[in-house]
Amino acid sequence: MTRLIFLGPPGAGKGTQAKVLSQSSHIPHISTGDILRSAVVQQTELGKQAQAYMEQGELVPDELMRSMVKERLTQSDTAQGWILDGFPRNVAQAAFLEDFLAQVEQSCDVVINVEVPNEVLVERLLNRGRQDDTRSVVEHRLEVYAEQTAPLIDFYRDRQKLASINGNQSMETVTEELNQLLGAAVG
Ligand code: ADP
Repeated sequence: MTRLIFLGPPGAGKGTQAKVLSQSSHIPHISTGDILRSAVVQQTELGKQAQAYMEQGELVPDELMRSMVKERLTQSDTAQGWILDGFPRNVAQAAFLEDFLAQVEQSCDVVINVEVPNEVLVERLLNRGRQDDTRSVVEHRLEVYAEQTAPLIDFYRDRQKLASINGNQSMETVTEELNQLLGAAVG
C-alpha cells in the first residue's frame, strides 16, 4: 500500500513521474490539474467555476478543491493507495487533507518534493505550450507556488514525511532515484 503526495513547482515533472509510478505500481494517479482541465472541457459546474482561476494562474478556491478531492479519494480504487499530484497546494488544503485522512483512518506515507531551479521551470513551461503556459501566467503561477505552496515543504518536514529529489535531471534518472527512494521509504 502506497499513499504519496508529489510536491513541487509547476513544471517540475510531478505529473510525468506520477504517471510512470502509477503504471509500475498499479496505484491510481490523482492529478487535480487533470481533473480540473477535464471539467473545463466538459463545462461541468466545477469546470465553469474553475476556468477563470486556471487561466489566470490562480489557485481554484479551496472549497471547490475540497469537495473534488474528497469525492475522488472515496472512490473504491483508492483502497490500493494513491498518488496525489497537484494537491495540496496551500497550508489550508494540507490541513484539510490531514483531517480527512484521519477520519478515514489513513495517512500519507511520504511527500516527494521535486526540486528544479526557477529559470529551468520557466523554460520548460513555455516549451510545454499548454493554454495556461503563456509567459505572464507562468510567472504568476511560480509566484503563487512560492507564496502558497512552498510553505508545505516545512509543513511536511515537521511531520517527518518529506523526501526531496532533484528534478533537474533526465526523466529516466529522476524515475530511478524515485524508485530507490521509495524502496527505502515505503518498500
Ligand atoms: P502544473 O502542471 O503547472 O503544476 P496543474 O496541472 O497541477 O499545474 O494545475 C493547473 C491549474 O489547476 C493550477 O494553476 C490551478 O489553477 C488549478 N489547480 C490544480 N490543483 C489545484 C489545487 N490543489 N488548488 C487550487 N487550484 C488547483
